[in-house]
Amino acid sequence: MFNLILFGPPGSGKGTQSDKLVAKYGLIHLSTGNLLRDEIARKTPLGLEAKTFIDKGRLVPDEVVIGMVDAYFDKHKNARGFLFDGFPRTVAQAIALDKLMELKKTSIVSVLSLMVSEEELVKRLLNRGKTSGRSDDTDEKVIRKRFAVYNDETTPVAEHYKKGGKFEEIRGEGTVEEIFDALCKVIDGRMIKNR
Ligand code: ADP
Repeated sequence: MFNLILFGPPGSGKGTQSDKLVAKYGLIHLSTGNLLRDEIARKTPLGLEAKTFIDKGRLVPDEVVIGMVDAYFDKHKNARGFLFDGFPRTVAQAIALDKLMELKKTSIVSVLSLMVSEEELVKRLLNRGKTSGRSDDTDEKVIRKRFAVYNDETTPVAEHYKKGGKFEEIRGEGTVEEIFDALCKVIDGRMIKNR
């Protein structure tokens, strides 16, 4: 298996780049944000619980997200690999993912971190909010809260992976194609090493 993590703050372009990466490398896209929005749309008990956190710009509890990831992973047993997007977002989630990888006798090949300034992020999110129908993208207060949560709870995840030497920073500003090319260069390099 060839498993990647796409890492970065809200609005850094993870969703956009994920779509292109899964198409190019034949990976399964595992976006916890998408899975949660799907649960919300279907009004499942999990979705209704998750919505109360998401609307406030907070994280959904670890055990809920980890359970969802485990189930999705098992649903795609024969995958060539996974692209994790928006997960792990806390150190507890990163540790749970380490365990899952070990259990499945596989590993994370690379953590790709998209670097974008906060000013640019707010602009992108407010813009996305105009068309996405995502309630968490229309209120600047909620957006700022998501950044605060990102800084407090998610940046330590970067430290977790830096220790393993798999962490790569990629400039997340520029055209979609420029960023995609930069990501592919790193991934192709890792593929050669992993052969
Ligand atoms: P963004 O990266 O733009 O914040 P996502 O679609 O990844 O958007 O996530 C939207 C919301 O879903 C987050 O603000 C959070 O409340 C919840 N969420 C997504 N992934 C996780 C996760 N791994 N752990 C906890 N909450 C999550």
